[in-house]
Amino acid sequence: MHRIWMVDLAREQSPTLDHLYQYAATAQNAGYTALGLYLEHRFATKSTPWSHGKGAVTAAQIQSLQSEFPSLQIIPFINLLGHFEGFFNVEEGRHFREEPFTGLQACPSCHEFVTLCQNLIDETIEVFKSEIIHIGGDETAQLGKCYRCANRMKGKAEDEKAWLYNDHFAPLIDRVIKAGRRPAMWGDMFLEHPAALENLPKQTLIFDWHYVNGVKETAPKFVGHEVIACPTTAVYNAAWMHVERTEHNIRQCALDAQELDLAGFCLTTWEQILLNPFDSIFPAVEWAARISINPASTESLPEAFGEAEQWARTLGIELACMGGVWTPSGHRHKLKCRLLLAGNPFLAWLHHRDEILDGRARQLLLIIEKSIKQAPNEQCKNVSFGLRGMVEALTMMEAAHTHYSDREPDAAISKLAPMRFLFDTLAKLAKENHERIGGSLADIERCHIAKQHIEVVINRIRKYGNAELGYLPAFEIITNHRFTPHDQACWWLVNKWAND
Ligand SMILES: [Zn+2]
Repeated sequence: MHRIWMVDLAREQSPTLDHLYQYAATAQNAGYTALGLYLEHRFATKSTPWSHGKGAVTAAQIQSLQSEFPSLQIIPFINLLGHFEGFFNVEEGRHFREEPFTGLQACPSCHEFVTLCQNLIDETIEVFKSEIIHIGGDETAQLGKCYRCANRMKGKAEDEKAWLYNDHFAPLIDRVIKAGRRPAMWGDMFLEHPAALENLPKQTLIFDWHYVNGVKETAPKFVGHEVIACPTTAVYNAAWMHVERTEHNIRQCALDAQELDLAGFCLTTWEQILLNPFDSIFPAVEWAARISINPASTESLPEAFGEAEQWARTLGIELACMGGVWTPSGHRHKLKCRLLLAGNPFLAWLHHRDEILDGRARQLLLIIEKSIKQAPNEQCKNVSFGLRGMVEALTMMEAAHTHYSDREPDAAISKLAPMRFLFDTLAKLAKENHERIGGSLADIERCHIAKQHIEVVINRIRKYGNAELGYLPAFEIITNHRFTPHDQACWWLVNKWAND
């Protein structure tokens, strides 16, 4: 049975060789048979010299990893249709996209893109020795959106999207098979378009991912194919990680894999970004390996954290009791995204200020302060410090707004001024995470950008906070990137389409 831990390197991770060794050692010691590296554009392939962002994994690193850990399969996860955004948001790759300025999918009717897919497979096979070559295929939500694809698939089959998907992937799968390797793909698009399964070579291994509950309902639908059950650590929608949801999902997938006699188990770990470093979840990764071997084990996930157990309970269970943005949802963590992704932390104030009213900020800070005392190491402490900074930022923005609306611009500025220092601190945490485990370089820049925007807003309040324009712009307007003096009605907001 395959027991795989898949690490998402595509979300800006910049591992050194030492960090990669750390991942491989963790996987091997925990009992995994393979370490999956989810790469997308983060593999420095010869055919795309233009896509090698700083910190991309190199062929030399992979070769070293393979010779240092000969008993561990190092499986490449490349992605050859959906999740191509790391390539097509670069100047040389922009013509690969299915639609301009939106989505994650490349265009399967673009010949240069298809040639690139072939090259990526060839180079991956040249470098990685693993039996399994995973070529992605998930979340291709834009099938048939461009006119070339729409024309090509028209009338080809009852399910035209299934035809287009198959037409793209069939030759790529053949290429992997001809090279003597085993192709693997994600299962979601086959569940959505079962007709795409009909002509799929039976050697294709299906990675059936479900991040709530298990795979009992879906795995049997891949008739004739071997299936790998894929749970995840519930991180993307969490302040740190939703422990109970993670525990249930992993246990259920392990149990289903055993009962349905599946080909394996693959723990997927995604998106350790936005001040949430990978090494803070290593104990969960190790625990998942033990559960995949023995799903009936009574060892709980919090227990697996050892000296960090209380910390894990506080951030992974207790914090969710605060409701709102702290509970599991289908979204990326909205507070983190709004503070850090859009370059305007005031969006977090606009959408989440209610969540810190009526003493809730104090309650949140008490929980987070407790976790700081419980944190046994730098990775845990940094998660807690980051969260404390995020709640403090909300509090500062709310206080600044109160003064601003009372026409006390100097007092409003005095509340915003310390936010600059706060984002410096967050940048320092991001830098530590980068140095310690190869965490996101973009996180550091996100904090710098947020700080710069706070400077801009302070200057605006200084200039216009006494209604010097003849009116006092609403706080969400004066704090927005697109604020324009004298545009009192905000035509940039009325004509939203012009922002695309
Ligand atoms: Zn297209």
